Amino acid sequence: MIERFDVAIVGGGPAGLSAAIAAAEKGCRSVAVVERKRQWGRPVQCAEMAPKLLGQIVPLDRSATVQAVGELHFWLDFKPVGRLHAPAWMLDRPRWEAALAGHAAALGVALFHPATVLAMSGNGLLLSYGGVWREIEARIIIGADGPQSLVRRLRIETPIEFALAVQEVLPLTQGSEAADLFFSPDYGSGYGWCFPRGGEANIGLALPWERRRRLRELFRRLTDYLQREGRIASVRPIRRSGGLIPVGGPVAQTVFAAADKEAAAMLLAGDAAGQCHPLSGAGILTACACGRLAGEVAARAMTEKSPAGLAEYETAWRDLYGGYLHRGLKGRQKIMAADPEQFATVLQDVWRFRSL
Ligand SMILES: Cc1cc2nc3c(=O)[nH]c(=O)nc-3n(C[C@H](O)[C@H](O)[C@H](O)COP(=O)(O)OP(=O)(O)OC[C@H]3O[C@@H](n4cnc5c(N)ncnc54)[C@H](O)[C@@H]3O)c2cc1C
Repeated sequence: MIERFDVAIVGGGPAGLSAAIAAAEKGCRSVAVVERKRQWGRPVQCAEMAPKLLGQIVPLDRSATVQAVGELHFWLDFKPVGRLHAPAWMLDRPRWEAALAGHAAALGVALFHPATVLAMSGNGLLLSYGGVWREIEARIIIGADGPQSLVRRLRIETPIEFALAVQEVLPLTQGSEAADLFFSPDYGSGYGWCFPRGGEANIGLALPWERRRRLRELFRRLTDYLQREGRIASVRPIRRSGGLIPVGGPVAQTVFAAADKEAAAMLLAGDAAGQCHPLSGAGILTACACGRLAGEVAARAMTEKSPAGLAEYETAWRDLYGGYLHRGLKGRQKIMAADPEQFATVLQDVWRFRSL
């Protein structure tokens, strides 16, 4: 039996769940999400910091946050150089994503979970679900399947640019309401972070792909420094993860009309669309905001029976976030091009922190 949906969303991360909630809220009766992780949001491949504004875009209960952060502290070669006021939440991503999934289910969204999209063609998706193959069909498919998106690769051949990141959860000696960002000419446009989450911290390092060979060595240098300074109690990780961050800016096209009556139209959202900030690597907020827009536009196209209306998504998200992502990309390129003597000035100029 093939189940048919108006909208099928590949990927139940921030972008996919936001798209599902928005589509259902806008009156689309038949929405499905396919997510392969056994537990929503786990493993956590994220430092879990998001601006407080997130709560105005998607449901965000305080129980899905670990703590607030007020300031970013900037370090260059392990010396303090600046500060920036940046009210943010440290999220508990598994708890938050599970809550979003619950919200979507309550709105009538069908959740295929855990299920993996193995293949796609025309309007059909082949899933591995509960130990068997299952086929579903949809009029509109939203690719919200993260940085290595299968949906994107079906439509766009150009590879996208990535930073590679590693992260460990390590015990802090003392809690903090400031998040630290560590820079060095060795990191190029990448940076290290120590983001507090109560008695622990997400500590990580992201480097441009071409510098990845030094990732583990430079990460160890960062954790050794934090231990020497008495900031962390141990370098024995509580959890360890890593992942790819799209840092080349958005892809050129995120709406693909159906090729014929048998095919589905496709939209891309979140990391699948490269909607992650190229300088900071922050993608949660844009994934949710653009996911919501994709869901709303898809619902409208279905309820008004106007597939041409899907083109609105391309304009809508670019109007809101195109400039922000473009400035991030320019900033990243400036840091990449800076020689070591200019590095401190360029860093301050691009990140716009208050010098100490
Ligand atoms: C180490 C690291 C630290 C980061 N820290 C931050 C941070 O502090 N703040 C911030 O804002 N951003 C951060 N980011 C970026 C942020 O995690 C992403 O931008 C954000 O998760 C994008 O959401 P998304 O829904 O587009 O993609 P994802 O979160 O990647 O979700 C995509 C989902 O699709 C599922 N999926 C993929 N393929 C399939 C398939 N074939 N079948 C079924 N399901 C599939 C995946 O399992 C996944 O759950 C970080 C990234 C990394 C790697």
